[in-house]
Amino acid sequence: MTNKNENLFLRAQKTTPGGVNSPVRAFRSVGGTPRFIQRAEGAYFWDVEDKRYIDYIGSWGPAIVGHAHPKVVQAVQEAAARGLGFGAPTEGEIEMAEEICKLMPSIEQVRLVSSGTEATMSALRLARGATNRDKIIKFEGCYHGHADSLLVKAGSGLLTLGNPTSAGVPEDFIQHTLVLDYNNSQQLEDCFKAHGKDIACVIVEPVAGNMNLIKATPEFLRTMRRLCTEYGSVLIFDEVMCGFRVALGGAQSLYDIQPDITALGKIIGGGLPVAAFGGRADLMANMAPLGRVYQAGTLSGNPVAVAAGLTTLKLIQEPNFYEQLSSQTNKLVRGLSEAARKAGVTFCADSIGGMFGLYFAQSIPASYTEMMATDSAKFNRFFHLMLDAGVYLAPSAFEAGFVSAQHDDAIIAASIACAEKAFEQLVS
Ligand SMILES: *Cc1c(COP(=O)(O)O)cnc(C)c1O
Repeated sequence: MTNKNENLFLRAQKTTPGGVNSPVRAFRSVGGTPRFIQRAEGAYFWDVEDKRYIDYIGSWGPAIVGHAHPKVVQAVQEAAARGLGFGAPTEGEIEMAEEICKLMPSIEQVRLVSSGTEATMSALRLARGATNRDKIIKFEGCYHGHADSLLVKAGSGLLTLGNPTSAGVPEDFIQHTLVLDYNNSQQLEDCFKAHGKDIACVIVEPVAGNMNLIKATPEFLRTMRRLCTEYGSVLIFDEVMCGFRVALGGAQSLYDIQPDITALGKIIGGGLPVAAFGGRADLMANMAPLGRVYQAGTLSGNPVAVAAGLTTLKLIQEPNFYEQLSSQTNKLVRGLSEAARKAGVTFCADSIGGMFGLYFAQSIPASYTEMMATDSAKFNRFFHLMLDAGVYLAPSAFEAGFVSAQHDDAIIAASIACAEKAFEQLVS
C-alpha cells in the first residue's frame, strides 16, 4: 500500500539527502515513513492524506501558543505587506530586544540572529574573545546546535578529550571541547581545578531537552555558577529550547541563577527564524561594531520573523499562561503514567512547564548514560501505535515533547485514551 506520504518521501529522497532538511524528521530511529504535513491549527496538524494528528512536537518548541494563532498570523501578514526585509534597522527589533531584556533580567543587551545554532556559536565566540581563552566545557547529551566546537559527544571519564559525533569536525577544534557528565558536580569541580584558567566558558542546557527531558539538579547549576565566577569563565545557558518554555523567565528564573550569556531561539521566533544571544552589557560590548568579536547576518532581525516572535512573546505574558500550560502538561504525564501502570508497562514521565519527557524505565533518568539505558525499542512501538491513533509524538526516544496553550482538557483526555490502548497492545 503506498500513500501520498510514501510517494512524497520517495520523491524527496531523489533531490534531498535522506529526503528531509533536518535529520530527526526522517523517522530513522523509529522506522517507517515520515508524515508530510500540509497544514496546522491549534494543537493539531494534518498530513497530506488528510489524517489529523494531535501534535506534541509543536515545531520542536516554537508553537507554544498553538499553530497558526490568529494574532501571530495577522502580525506576520501585516509585516509582510510592509516589505519582507530591508537590511537596515527597524523599530520592531528594538521592541523585541526590550521585551527579551525585560523578561530575562540577566540579559542586559541582546543580539538577534536567525537560528539557535548561530546563537550558541556566536555566544562561544564571544566567550572566547572576551576571555582570551580557547577551552570550553559542555555536557554529554546536551545539544547546542551544529557548530564545529559543539558537535562533540561524550568522552567518558573526567577530562577526556571529546570525540566528534560528526565527521568533518577537525581534531584541532575538538581538543578544546571538554565533555563532562550532566549533573555531576564533582567532575566539574575537578575539571576546573585542572583547567580552570584556560576555560573560556561552560555551556549547558539548564533543562536538557535534547536527550529526552532531564532536569539539572539545582546543586549542579549552582556549582557551575560558583566555579565560573571563581575562575573568570563565562557561564552560557543555552535556553534555545527551555527559554519561555519551562517558565516565562526561562530555566534561569526557576533555578534563580543568573548566567553571563543566554542563548535563545525556537519560541522567540514564534515559528519563524529568530534566535538571539545576550547577557551582561560589559560582555556584549565585545561584539562588533563596538568590539572585536565579529558576528553578522543578512536576515538577522528580519521584520516578518520579528513580528511573529514579538506577538508570541506578548501572548505568553497573558495572566496565568504558564500555570495553565504546566497544568495541562502535568495532566498529560500523569494520565500517561497511570495508563502505563494499569497495563503493567514499565514507564515513567516527567514535565516542567510546557515540556515533557516519556521514559520506558523504572525511574526518571538523570544523565545521558541513564537515558541510553531506557527501552527505546518499546518507545518505538509505542510511538507507532500512537501515530496510527492520531497522536504525533517526537519520532525518537531521545527527544522531549511539547504542549501548547491550545491543548485543552478534551485533547489531553483523547491523547491519554489512545495511550491506554497503546500500552495494552505493548504487553499483549
Ligand atoms: C534547537 C536547539 C539548538 C539549535 O537551534 P537551531 O535553531 O535548530 O539551530 C540549540 N540549542 C538547543 C538547546 C536547542 O534545543
